[in-house]
Parts: sequence; structure tokens; C-alpha cells
Amino acid sequence: ELPSVSFVGLGNMGAPMSVRLLRAGYAVTGFDLSADARAAVAFAGVRTAETAADAVRGTDIMILMLPSSSVVEAVLGDPAVAAALADGSTVVDMSSSDPLSTRRLATELESRSVRLVDAPVSGGVKGAENGTLTIMVGGAEVDVGRLAPLLQNMGTVRRAGGVGAGHALKAINNLLSATHLLATAEGVLAGERFGLDPAVMVELINSSSGRSGSTDNKFPNFVLPGSYDSGFGMNLMLKDMRIAVGLAHQLGAASPLADSAVAIWARALEELPDTADHTEIARWAALQSAD
Ligand code: NAD
Repeated sequence: ELPSVSFVGLGNMGAPMSVRLLRAGYAVTGFDLSADARAAVAFAGVRTAETAADAVRGTDIMILMLPSSSVVEAVLGDPAVAAALADGSTVVDMSSSDPLSTRRLATELESRSVRLVDAPVSGGVKGAENGTLTIMVGGAEVDVGRLAPLLQNMGTVRRAGGVGAGHALKAINNLLSATHLLATAEGVLAGERFGLDPAVMVELINSSSGRSGSTDNKFPNFVLPGSYDSGFGMNLMLKDMRIAVGLAHQLGAASPLADSAVAIWARALEELPDTADHTEIARWAALQSAD
């Protein structure tokens, strides 16, 4: 029999992910602070609860898809949630969280034989809808093996290492992704001023050594059409970049390029609405140049 699942955090990513689990035959109970988010998954057939503790009670696996570690800590630190979380159950944090926080939480939960596995994802809202995410898992091999059949409904499962390894890798991935996006924006801008067609540039770079997720996905799908609707917020991207450079600083790894990328992204977010999509960094970058 399939394990029962609670799913906390039903936003841009959590909603389609929870619906995929439901369609795969899992009994899923969802919770989100937002009543609209709860209603959206309820419409697709997911059972919803009025509190996180009510969602978790009686389930074997608790999945989290929340904005950040501070929210993950608040949810797991809620005494009602702690009481509802059964001994021997498993928490799977699929949010892009801070690996040091994740390790601390794993140690705390271990004392009550609750296992914690980090399983952040790459692939965006499209990947969440289609079940084609890359899932970077951190945890004991036996826990990861046990969870693989469930996680495979959402994407390709790859173990990165022990607890926290998935979260560390995810933050570093996004630091690269954000840096590539800004670099691509600056390059395309210079090329345009020379008279190049941005679509031609991106297409040719995609079969050249400058290619990246920014040239093969973000520019053609969100920047060049001017839609800026990837469904991944700039505030969330900056959070991930800060996690990665924070790790680098704590570990004494030099990161001058990443440090300046963070400073530039932070300036952009200050000047844009807090709800800006992360792909709007390209539009903002273009506005920085003289006419
Ligand atoms: P989102 O903001 O769309 O969704 C987060 C949800 O959490 C919201 O619905 C919010 O109401 C809910 N929430 C906040 N506090 C809560 C609480 N205390 N209890 C219950 N629910 C609460 O964000 P998202 O884009 O779905 O991203 C979720 C995580 O996945 C983030 O860590 C993000 O960095 C990561 N991520 C996002 C993408 C993407 O393309 N959007 C891709 C990969 C990873």
C-alpha cells in the first residue's frame, strides 16, 4: 500500500506537485496559509486541511514546498505540528532551503525518530506540471531509496549526498543560473546595440560554448517574448543566491564574482516590486544603460 502524504505549501510549485501525487494514487492532504492556494488544489481533488497540524496528523510522509528555511522552521517548530508528526514518519523538504538549517532540523527530529530528507528541485513550474523536475536529494541512502518511488512521480531522483547536500547543491545551481541570466542580459544588450537580432544571438549561442539555461530556456521563453512569467520570483532567486554565497563565505571559499552578482540582483529587487519574476532581471539590466 502507498504511504499517506501531507503536502504543506501549495504555491506555484507545490500545487502541481501535490496534484501529480494525487493522480499517481497517493492519499494527499494539503495545507497552505492561503485559502486561494488551498481552493486551487481542492478543485483538482486534493483533500485540504485548515491547519498544518491537521494535514500532518496520521500521515506517513510530510512534504514541504515552502518559500524558505525560516518558514520551514516555523512550520516544524509549531508545537501542534510537532505533536501531530508521528514517530517514525519522514519529513521531505522540497523547498530551496538553507542546508545548515536543514542539518539542524534533521538532528532535532532524529531524537524523536522522525527522518528528514532534503529534496529540492530544478525545472520550474513547467517541470512541476509535467513531472520532469530534477530532484536533488540529501539524506541517508536507505531513506532516499524508500522515498524514490514517491519522488519519481515528480521528476528524476538523484542523490547528492547526506542530509543538506541537496539544499547546498540547489543553492549553488541557482547562483550559477542567476549569474548566467545577468551575464546573458548584458551580452545580448551589447549585441543589440551593435545591430544583432537578439533571437539570432540566442539561437547561435545555444549551439556555441556560451549556452546555458538562460539561453536555451529563459531568454527564448520569458525574456525575448516580454512575458516575464516563469513563475519563479526574483525574491526567491535572491534568497537562493544568498544561501550559496553565505556558504562560500562561511567555508572560506573565495566568491568575488558571485558577491557582485548578489549585489546587483539585490539592487534590482529594491527597485522592482517584491512580486517581480526573476526573469525581469534582464529588463532591469537593460534599463541601467545610457540611452
Ligand atoms: P510560492 O510563493 O508560489 O509558494 C509558496 C507557498 O507557501 C505560498 O502559497 C504560501 O502561501 C505558502 N506559505 C507561506 N508560509 C506558509 C506557512 N507558514 N504555512 C503554509 N503555507 C505557507 O513559491 P514557489 O515558487 O512554489 O516556491 C516554493 C519553493 O520552491 C521555494 O523555496 C522556491 O525557491 C523553490 N523553487 C521554485 C521554483 C519555481 O520555478 N517557482 C523552482 C524550483 C524551486
